[in-house]
Amino acid sequence: MPAMYDVVVVGGGPAGTATALRLASTGRSVALLERSHFDHPRVGETLAPAVQPLLRELGVWDRYCALRPLPSWGTRSIWDDPEPAEHSHLASGYASGWHVDRRAFDRMLADAAADAGTDVLMRTSLVNCRYDGAAWNVVCSGERRLAARLVVDATGRSAVLGRSLGARRLAFDRLVGITAQWHGVNVTDEQYLLVEAAADGWWYTAPLPGGAMVGMLMTDADLCRRDRLASAGPWHNRLFATTATAERIGPRSASSALLVYPAASRRTTRLHDVRPWLAVGDAALSVDPISGSGVQRALQTAAGAADTLIGLLDRPGDAATLITQYESARDTECTTYLIERAHYYNAVRRYPTPFWNRRKLHAAA
Ligand SMILES: Cc1cc2nc3c(=O)[nH]c(=O)nc-3n(C[C@H](O)[C@H](O)[C@H](O)COP(=O)(O)OP(=O)(O)OC[C@H]3O[C@@H](n4cnc5c(N)ncnc54)[C@H](O)[C@@H]3O)c2cc1C
Repeated sequence: MPAMYDVVVVGGGPAGTATALRLASTGRSVALLERSHFDHPRVGETLAPAVQPLLRELGVWDRYCALRPLPSWGTRSIWDDPEPAEHSHLASGYASGWHVDRRAFDRMLADAAADAGTDVLMRTSLVNCRYDGAAWNVVCSGERRLAARLVVDATGRSAVLGRSLGARRLAFDRLVGITAQWHGVNVTDEQYLLVEAAADGWWYTAPLPGGAMVGMLMTDADLCRRDRLASAGPWHNRLFATTATAERIGPRSASSALLVYPAASRRTTRLHDVRPWLAVGDAALSVDPISGSGVQRALQTAAGAADTLIGLLDRPGDAATLITQYESARDTECTTYLIERAHYYNAVRRYPTPFWNRRKLHAAA
């Protein structure tokens, strides 16, 4: 007989670990599958000030501070106006945001979930998941089998579990991030996020703990292919054509190879499916990094998901209502987010190029 859990969470990013931690803290039996060992680069290193109350509520604030995250004092943006605009985090009420090593951050959350009683199965991928009307049968890599009353898709933008269950991913754009790092950087005076609009998209640079800087060109997948922007030559040429970003980085080439990350805004929809599963974090709604809110949203939706999952465990007869309420909250979040995103992109009028025009058309639709 496979081990039986109340909940199997697939994916050990912030959404999955926070969901598991919340459930395990209320005495539910939880297994968390994570395909990696947090040993590969991860994006999403700049955390909004508003993660502070969420981390405190999870009971991991001291562990977080022990990671020695770099305080982030705010954002400098060169958007429609070529002159930089400053947005200080002081107004947020929490004094600062942070620049973190996402591998260490995600590992810290997974350790906290394990300490709360979650069975954390590292280097374990989901292979298959079937519902027999009473329980989920979960097949993992290594032919390991688990059973659960509920399952959670926390696999990030890939939404592997939800898609395997028939959910659809609505895509609102084709954004990708092409990223590299520079090592041996003095980041003392650099503790802010810089965003800069360019003809084919926008640039993002931020310091990382340990004296590194991450830089990213956000553009559309077809423009990336057309102009070979994932190749070092064209990418550096675009970088050196910027103003504040080029000045921040200086004339040196990146120390790491370029990596391309999908970054499209997407919403997972599951019409008329009331089987007991939920999507959380990016697997439910993935947002444009311009919002700077991905990790914050992952932690927030974990709270809503945990409440819904506890409801499903305690009152299985209310499954249809609970799932509909949860999905409706995600739909509202998606609508609000799309308005916010249109606001960011509508502000740039100086580039009449496909990247910016597409977003304006979308905003007008
Ligand atoms: C280019 C880029 C830049 C970004 N910058 C920022 C930023 O500066 N600040 C910010 O707040 N957000 C940022 N984000 C968004 C942020 O990274 C995400 O919103 C956040 O990581 C979502 O957390 P999650 O737990 O939902 O998903 P993820 O962090 O993607 O975690 C998913 C986890 O599931 C695991 N997994 C996947 N498939 C399987 C499987 N089959 N079996 C087992 N495990 C599996 C993965 O290994 C991973 O650990 C950025 C995103 C991109 C693409």
